[in-house]
Amino acid sequence: MTQFEPVIGIEVHAQLKTNTKLFCRCSTQFGGEPNAHTCPRCLGMPGALPVLNQTAVEFAIKAGLALNCDIQHKSVFARKNYFYPDLPKGYQISQFELPICLNGHLDIELPDGSTKRIGITRIHMEEDAGKLVHQGAEAIAGSTHSFVDLNRAGVPLIEIVSEPDIRSAEEARIYMETLQLILRYVGVCDGNLEEGSLRADANVSLRPVGTTPFGTRTETKNINSFRSLERAINSEITRQTALILSGGKVIQQTRNYHDNTQTTTVLRDKEDSHDYRYFPDPDLLPLLVSQTQIDAVKTTLPELPNAQRKRYMEQLGLSEFEAMVLVQDIPMNHYFTAVLDQNPQIDKTELAKWLVGDINAALKEANKGFDNCPIQIAHTASLLTLLTTGKISGKMAKAFIPDMIQTQKSPDDLLAASGGGQIDNSDDLGPIIDQILTQNPDVAEKIKAGKTQSANFLMGQVMKATGGRAKPDLVIDLILKKVTG
Ligand SMILES: [Zn+2]
Repeated sequence: MTQFEPVIGIEVHAQLKTNTKLFCRCSTQFGGEPNAHTCPRCLGMPGALPVLNQTAVEFAIKAGLALNCDIQHKSVFARKNYFYPDLPKGYQISQFELPICLNGHLDIELPDGSTKRIGITRIHMEEDAGKLVHQGAEAIAGSTHSFVDLNRAGVPLIEIVSEPDIRSAEEARIYMETLQLILRYVGVCDGNLEEGSLRADANVSLRPVGTTPFGTRTETKNINSFRSLERAINSEITRQTALILSGGKVIQQTRNYHDNTQTTTVLRDKEDSHDYRYFPDPDLLPLLVSQTQIDAVKTTLPELPNAQRKRYMEQLGLSEFEAMVLVQDIPMNHYFTAVLDQNPQIDKTELAKWLVGDINAALKEANKGFDNCPIQIAHTASLLTLLTTGKISGKMAKAFIPDMIQTQKSPDDLLAASGGGQIDNSDDLGPIIDQILTQNPDVAEKIKAGKTQSANFLMGQVMKATGGRAKPDLVIDLILKKVTG
């Protein structure tokens, strides 16, 4: 039986995080009263002329640089002609023959630890269409009537087109996740899949393993989560495989993915680009970008996620897990950097450990996050200093954190209020342990009989008696010494 190999390319539409639309000054904010964010330009009124948003151009260049593209000194806006009720002009302004970015790549890390390079064919700028809201059904089929909301019409997008270098649904998901993180890092897109600011279409075809020519591909749309991207591709691979094995032929189509049934259905037979009758938009001059402009954008690029993760591990000594969590949680990462910047002497690995672990957990518990973190940076730094100098135990630090979130008190104040620092000498701990041992003779017997882990129970009692201030390893030492004696 013939074995098939999937050939996958992904087209990602990313909404640029500008305040205003691509060719007018209407707000790009999500939501709002239907058609409130509109003007004669984005409503396609006769005679209204487009004026290009400079920030959108900078963001497109920034995305292109972050994805290793060649930024084009000349690109051209073209009209993509088609009719749909959410497209008032009857054409979409896009870029066709001369897009702003070409020949990039993105390295993704696979679960086995290897790296795979996915080519990026091009990035072009375009305006978004509006939205149809159907009444009486989810989709147009079965609905009684539909409304048109043009708030989204004219919002700036970049379309990032990958090479067909992807070979599995999992690779596609990792590609999309990596792309989302990079776009968020460089600050050009909020990467919010639920609000549609990042959308993926998957081109899938099959070919017999070991052969080079591509099979006929389908394009699957309506994918709004990483999970549905993976599922949509797998369902398309299954469908095409069954079709080919039963003697059928894959037809070039645009298909819709349905998450509830995890299947795709035909939306329309796939159009070719010539069907759109692209031509340069006579209302817009060619977009000329100088090397000076590109270099200026380059200086605003932050360190990218992969490089930062490596630096965190190699230079700061963070574990792979902590480095990964920090890189994926941008607000936490900013907080980490801010603490380090203001306290360069601080123990970086301990700081990362506490941010990723207990502080993060306590913030979540309090329904808060690292953006607008209620714990002052100076307080986090002093908590770490108290810890690493042995003035407080880990247990005490853990107990302080919810208080630091709720009351915004400094750890020094909390320490003073708790009656003092860590008890770390046998003179003070000895009598307390003696008392606990007297109260728990059965446990002492167990320890004597070799069940040393029972000492943990006694340590709990000592901690209770000292308000968590006893030094844990010393307590265990003393208990064992006293019992086995
Ligand atoms: Zn407008």
